[in-house]
Amino acid sequence: MNFDVVVIGAGIAGPCAALALARRGAKVALIEAGQLPRHKVCGEFLSPESQAVFTRLGVMEAINAGNPIPVSTGRILSRQGATLDTPLPSAGLALSRFRLDKILWDAACDAEVECFSHTRVRHIAGTLASGFTITTTTGELCARHVIAASGRHTPWLDNYDTTTSVIKDPANPQFKTQNSKLKTPRSAQFFGLKAHFRGTGIEPGVVELHGWRGGYCGLVQVEDGITNACLLGCYEIMKRQSQRTPEAFWQWLLQQSPALSARMQGATQQMDWLATGNIAFGQVRPTTGGILRCGDAAGFIDPLTGDGMVMAARSGELAAAVVGAQLSGDVRPIDMAPLYAAAWQREFSRRLHWAALLRPLLMSPVLTTPAIALLSRMPSLAQRTVANTRGL
Ligand SMILES: Cc1cc2nc3c(=O)[nH]c(=O)nc-3n(C[C@H](O)[C@H](O)[C@H](O)COP(=O)(O)OP(=O)(O)OC[C@H]3O[C@@H](n4cnc5c(N)ncnc54)[C@H](O)[C@@H]3O)c2cc1C
Repeated sequence: MNFDVVVIGAGIAGPCAALALARRGAKVALIEAGQLPRHKVCGEFLSPESQAVFTRLGVMEAINAGNPIPVSTGRILSRQGATLDTPLPSAGLALSRFRLDKILWDAACDAEVECFSHTRVRHIAGTLASGFTITTTTGELCARHVIAASGRHTPWLDNYDTTTSVIKDPANPQFKTQNSKLKTPRSAQFFGLKAHFRGTGIEPGVVELHGWRGGYCGLVQVEDGITNACLLGCYEIMKRQSQRTPEAFWQWLLQQSPALSARMQGATQQMDWLATGNIAFGQVRPTTGGILRCGDAAGFIDPLTGDGMVMAARSGELAAAVVGAQLSGDVRPIDMAPLYAAAWQREFSRRLHWAALLRPLLMSPVLTTPAIALLSRMPSLAQRTVANTRGL
C-alpha cells in the first residue's frame, strides 16, 4: 500500500498530524499498536491553548460532545495543606484519555485517514529521497514521509543507522542496537500512576496539585462525575518505603499527605491503578533521519504544567504543515528537518525550561510552603509563572 504519509501512534500527536494532512488532501495512514478506546496514565487536564488547535483541526465540536469539564482554577497544596489558588489565563478542559483519544481516532477515520489499530511498527527503511518502507506486525506500507508520534517510549527511533537508513524497533527479536552508547537520561527516575474515583471532595473546574517529597499528585474532575487521580513519583522514594505496588504506594501517600487524604475521604475507586515507568523530562530531538517526531517522541514536558497534550497536538500540526508544504512543492525535502526543528524550538523550548525550574518547588517540602506563601502574596507573579509554562 502506498501513502503520502505514514503516521506512527494514535495518542494525541498522531491523529492531529494525520487529520491536518488529510484535510490538505494527502493520502495518510495512521498506525496504532494498541486498540482504542483505552485508558492512559495522564492527568487528563487539557491546557486552555488546546482548544485553538482542536478548533483548527475541526474536532472541537466532537470534544465538547464528550462532556469535558471546563477548568478555570489551578490549585497547589503542600502536604500540610497550605493552598494557592490561581485563575488560569483562560479555561482549560478536563476529559478522560479514554474518551479524548477515541474522539481523535474517530475524527481521523472520518477524514479518510487509513487507520490501522493492533498494528505495531517494527522497522522503517529508506530516506526522504527514496521514500520509506514501513514494516508492521500486519504488513508493509510505503510512504514518501513518516511522522513518528509514538510517545515517550521511543528510544528505538534513535537507533537510526545512517549507512543503511534503517530503524528497528527493539521489540523485534532480530533487533541489534546500532548505538550502544544510548544513555538513560539523568531524570529517568520517575514513574506515573493513574486511577479514576467517584465521590472525591474536589470541586468541578479546579485542577489540584498535591506536592510531597519526591513527587506530586494531580486531581481533576473529568466527565460524568469522575475524578482522575494521577501522580508522578520518584522510584527512590518508592523503594525506600518498600511500597512497591500501586495500591501500597497510594496508601502510604495518603498517610503522608493529610490534604490529599482529606480530598479522598469516602471516595470509591473505579478502575485498577494504571502505571507507567522510566519517565524522563526534556527534549529528545525533533527529527531522525528525515522522519519528523512529534508529541512526546520529540520531548516530554513535566506533567505539572498540564501542557503535554497541547504540545503533542500542536507539534502534530507543525509537522503536518512542513510535510504538507513539501508535498505541494513549497519546501525542498532537504529543508524540512531544519524548518521543523526551528519551529519546534521556537514554540516549546521555553516551556520545557520553565517546567524544569518549577518541579523542585513542588517536590520539596522545604520549598513548597514558602513558594505558596510568596505566590499568594503576589498573584501577578503566580499568573506570569503559569503563562511562562505554556509559552505565552
Ligand atoms: C503522570 C503523567 C501525567 C500527565 N498529565 C498530563 C496532563 O494533565 N495534561 C497534559 O496535557 N499532559 C499530561 N501528561 C503528558 C501527556 O500524557 C503526553 O504528553 C501525551 O500523551 C503525548 O501524546 P503523544 O501523542 O505524543 O503520545 P502518546 O499519547 O503516548 O501516544 C503514543 C501512541 O503511539 C503508540 N505506539 C508506540 N509505539 C508504536 C509502534 N511502534 N507502532 C505503532 N504504535 C505505536 C502507542 O500505543 C500510543 O498509543 C502526563 C503524562 C504523565 C506521564
